Amino acid sequence: MTPASTRSSDSEPSHPRDASASTGPVHLLELTPEELSARLSRHFEARRQPEFRVDQVRKWVYESSVSSIGEMSNLPLTEREALAAAFRLAEPEAATVSRSKDGTVKHLWRLEDGKVVESVLIPAESRLTLCISSQAGCAMGCTFCATGWSGFSRQLSAAEIVAQYRASRRWAEEHDYGSITNVVYMGMGEPLSNRKAVHPSLTILNRGFGLGARRITVSTVGVVPGIAELAARPEQFELALSLHAPESELRRTLIPLEKRHPLPELMEAIRAFREGKGRRVTFEYTMIRGINDAPRLAPMLADLARDVQAFVNLIPFNPIPYQDWRPSTPDRVDHFRRALEEAGVSVAVRAPRGQDIDAACGQLRANALVQIAK
Ligand code: SAH
Ligand code: SF4
Repeated sequence: MTPASTRSSDSEPSHPRDASASTGPVHLLELTPEELSARLSRHFEARRQPEFRVDQVRKWVYESSVSSIGEMSNLPLTEREALAAAFRLAEPEAATVSRSKDGTVKHLWRLEDGKVVESVLIPAESRLTLCISSQAGCAMGCTFCATGWSGFSRQLSAAEIVAQYRASRRWAEEHDYGSITNVVYMGMGEPLSNRKAVHPSLTILNRGFGLGARRITVSTVGVVPGIAELAARPEQFELALSLHAPESELRRTLIPLEKRHPLPELMEAIRAFREGKGRRVTFEYTMIRGINDAPRLAPMLADLARDVQAFVNLIPFNPIPYQDWRPSTPDRVDHFRRALEEAGVSVAVRAPRGQDIDAACGQLRANALVQIAK
């Protein structure tokens, strides 16, 4: 059995989407802060309302957790009605919420068309990291990944990406989890194959919701044009590369995209990102017993990491329902860790988180992945 066929969509144009092209009420979470202000200004001006209404609505969107326009209580009722006719603030419904013994919380969100995506809240020391999805399913077909096996369903809109953050923020507030400090695009999907929505979602989280760019990490399996685009942005968003193998031949057995963007090309893109941004890239290396954990691979991984001064996260493979691979033994993980350290590479071993709820769901990993510690 092989994962669902690879339908890569990384050639998609990444031009900013034209919100005005959509029909029906415009989603308030779909718009960048600038677009939101401009739209609201026009709306309220046409209704002969004072300009401060724009700020009132912006505050409801970004600072409050109200889930409907009807709850924007400092707007007159007639204005709420008029606003609701022109705009909407729909959020996905939580299909399930599972809470792990270790505090990790997984939401499965049901989107308007019934598709389900996940996001995961991961508390760790002073951080609260939110892991979000960028696509329903994934076209990349990586052999170790549950999402890869399930195939691609559709792209998420910017509003659907941002709504995972907004609804999770509300959940966290209501359950004494505190504020979300970090967001990682490590849920379902390949974010750099949905640049049309991911770019505005980054802008909205950063400039709308006020999350620092350095607290937002985009994880990619190696979509080279997307890495270049992210590098060209002025903000300092973080980049994580799902490497998983330090040589092309092995990597292509795990990650079909390796055939299109092989390691040398990928490393060049990473080097350019690193040099342009002055930011350290993180390598994710999922360790699968007998597959990518041979001792001979450790120095090769160290060389790649040293070459671009990457930080390496070693993540024991999280078993998935589709094949019988197991995580590397702790000894083997330790061997890799020591080899990297001896080569002067910064490395962390990530303990799986929320494993009990992963198992309950039977889908998707969203294991530890995340706690990109720098
Ligand atoms: N598509 C992007 C982001 C989503 S996957 C990417 O691949 O980077 C998020 C992370 O989970 C990736 O590093 C991926 O390699 C890792 N992952 C997927 N399946 C896993 C599994 N079964 N065990 C451990 N990590 C896994
Ligand atoms: Fe998609 Fe990432 Fe899973 Fe690969 S590892 S199938 S790119 S979600």
